[in-house]
Amino acid sequence: MKRNRLILLAALLAGILIALLIFLMLTGGSSNRTSLKMIEDGELRTGPQASYPVVFDVEKGDRLKIIKHEGKWYYVSDKKKKGWIAGWHTDLNISPDKVAADDPFKNKTIILDPGHGGSDQGASSKTGTLEKEVTLKTALMLRDKLKKEGAKVIMTRSTDEFVSLDDRKGTGDIFVSLHSDALDDKAPHGLTVYYSHESQKVLADTLHFSIKKKALLSDRGVRQENFQVIEQTKMPAVLLELGYISNPTDEKMMNDQVYRQIVTTSIVDGLRNYFIY
Ligand SMILES: [Zn+2]
Repeated sequence: MKRNRLILLAALLAGILIALLIFLMLTGGSSNRTSLKMIEDGELRTGPQASYPVVFDVEKGDRLKIIKHEGKWYYVSDKKKKGWIAGWHTDLNISPDKVAADDPFKNKTIILDPGHGGSDQGASSKTGTLEKEVTLKTALMLRDKLKKEGAKVIMTRSTDEFVSLDDRKGTGDIFVSLHSDALDDKAPHGLTVYYSHESQKVLADTLHFSIKKKALLSDRGVRQENFQVIEQTKMPAVLLELGYISNPTDEKMMNDQVYRQIVTTSIVDGLRNYFIY
């Protein structure tokens, strides 16, 4: 009798096991998985889409805990990192839905808007740094880099001339306005990225992340503000306040050629990231 019960129990357990295996095979095992393994190097992003900024790199073989998922994207974590990963980089057996563009700047028109100009000098420092000069130098360097990447660039001004806010627009894919902040108080410093319409936020997040990653500026974050030049356009547009002209450390950086190289490269990186998918 006892022996029969043991056999019955064993048969029952085997049955449950087989049912479980069939269930896992049918569902692909992905829906109730609590963790995943990277099958190639990848990047964790702030949102479930490739246009969101990268926050962490992850490597082939890394194991990550699944918190939730949205479509083919999984919100995952390990001890130090948290973010969204595309399912196709993992062992979840998910097919990619988009292919990265080989040439992200191809057929892209970028409108660069160096703030102020001519009779409007913008902010100024005690030592004579003028915002209109800094924004133009940065914009010209950025223009050259973007052209090298294959983009078309339209400048709202390329010399020291006055251009009204109404005229700071054009037809293109992206609009980037360049500025430097200033206050009476010389303590505030750092980078602020502004957007106006909700539809511009992904671009703002993407640029904020790439500038923050490379540039030495402290971070004042992404903010919503209806500045006319970004409000009057429907295209993805941002206004970058690349430091405070009223802060001696930021000012020194603004006047530094090497630093300008770093900042413009970080903007190009951000735009590439934005256009890549
Ligand atoms: Zn300004």
